[in-house]
Amino acid sequence: MLRTISSRISRRFYTTSRYETYHGGAIKTYYNPTLTGLSPSENEFREAVWEFSARVVKPKVDEIERGGSYSALMELHKEIAGMGLHGLTVPAKNLGLELGYTHHLLAMEALSYSSASLALSYGAHSNLCVNQLSRWGSEAQKSEWLPGLLDGRYLGALAMSESGAGSDVLGCMKTVAKKVDGGYLLNGNKFWITNGPKADVFIVYAKDVVEHGAKQTYTTFLVPRTTPGFTTGKPLDKFGMRGSPTCELIFTDVFLPPSSILGDSQHHGAKVLMSGLDLERLVLSGGPLGIMQAAYDTALEYVHQREQFGVRVGTIGSMQAKIADMYTKLNTARAFVYSVARAVDHHTQEAAPGYPVFQRRDCAAAILYATDKAIEVALECMQCLGGNGYINEYPAARYLADARLYAVGAGTQEVRRWLIGREVNSDFE
Ligand SMILES: Cc1cc2nc3c(=O)[nH]c(=O)nc-3n(C[C@H](O)[C@H](O)[C@H](O)COP(=O)(O)OP(=O)(O)OC[C@H]3O[C@@H](n4cnc5c(N)ncnc54)[C@H](O)[C@@H]3O)c2cc1C
Repeated sequence: MLRTISSRISRRFYTTSRYETYHGGAIKTYYNPTLTGLSPSENEFREAVWEFSARVVKPKVDEIERGGSYSALMELHKEIAGMGLHGLTVPAKNLGLELGYTHHLLAMEALSYSSASLALSYGAHSNLCVNQLSRWGSEAQKSEWLPGLLDGRYLGALAMSESGAGSDVLGCMKTVAKKVDGGYLLNGNKFWITNGPKADVFIVYAKDVVEHGAKQTYTTFLVPRTTPGFTTGKPLDKFGMRGSPTCELIFTDVFLPPSSILGDSQHHGAKVLMSGLDLERLVLSGGPLGIMQAAYDTALEYVHQREQFGVRVGTIGSMQAKIADMYTKLNTARAFVYSVARAVDHHTQEAAPGYPVFQRRDCAAAILYATDKAIEVALECMQCLGGNGYINEYPAARYLADARLYAVGAGTQEVRRWLIGREVNSDFE
């Protein structure tokens, strides 16, 4: 009797199926929803974005990867807009869905599963640009730009890094905003900017001209692509994320009126920049999670179809151990990242429009851990596929190359470790 009840209970708490299918079986994933702790409505949202990813994104993956004019990518941005996914963290009064960071993370993960390149472009648009504009923009800036950014007419980007200013982005920044009659003149270059080749509007950080010996300050500007003096370089040829457009931005005497300043006023750029980094790390953690799930699924299917020595290779002891490690890495990373997202949403609701300082270490830890595990799982996926893991007819090499981006994009693994250690140590000061 007890056994019957307990087996009924376990069936209620644990999914009865080993896998989920989407778009009539076009995607078969071994995603384990029983460990995620998602609420029924979050789970419904998750299933909807996975279905979208399977039906709309997956068939276009080769076209996206080819880059070229990025027409497939731009079309997909419009379709994503149709789902409302560009405004997940934007308040309803500004036309967003106001669902929060957990939902944004789930969308990022689902899109990354089918195309990590498209998802990176989506993350740069919807988090780096849209979310920063939503949090810091004036009402005039929001009403001018948000409708088009949310409905897919405009693509957005954020420009912080420069060829000489990466990890120490503020300390080494050379792009400068000089106060002139009626506004500011912006001069300098930004490098590695996701969406740069196609974006309509850019959030740009610049250092202010300050008196000799005075503290260096920074200002954030909203720069439309059509502004005279603004140009972009050629798309950069990358190791992975080949379908995501990246380039240099060049500012030559770009005149900007005071109404272009994002944030409370001039000189507040460092605050605007720093406040966005934690949320960027959190939302982009969905990237390595989605890639990791794809690598795990690919490996699992392969080792249970491929036979050597008269057995499926997945049943050989050392291969079974690989599967166990992949499964464990994937599910621990996901559980941790989702719990950080939940904490951030909770804090944001409690302290809105507060800046969740106490979660800085956790946002950094989320992307740090998910990235390390995604790279490990992608490597194991390649190994599971043997020679086929090494040819581009199979997606294993792409997973590895795409996962590697997250070890440097949105800050490097070393800087994340440094930040977490510093934050933890500060508890003892
Ligand atoms: C595909 C792609 C897309 C990108 N998209 C954008 C974008 O949209 N917008 C944007 O602004 N930027 C973007 N970036 C830039 C990215 O944020 C930087 O590359 C990143 O911050 C690292 O800076 P860096 O490349 O100058 O490396 P560096 O800072 O020069 O670091 C070199 C090495 O030194 C290590 N290092 C540096 N400082 C420390 C330290 N204090 N402790 C320990 N190790 C350290 C680093 O970890 C790294 O291993 C993108 C980059 C790529 C590759």
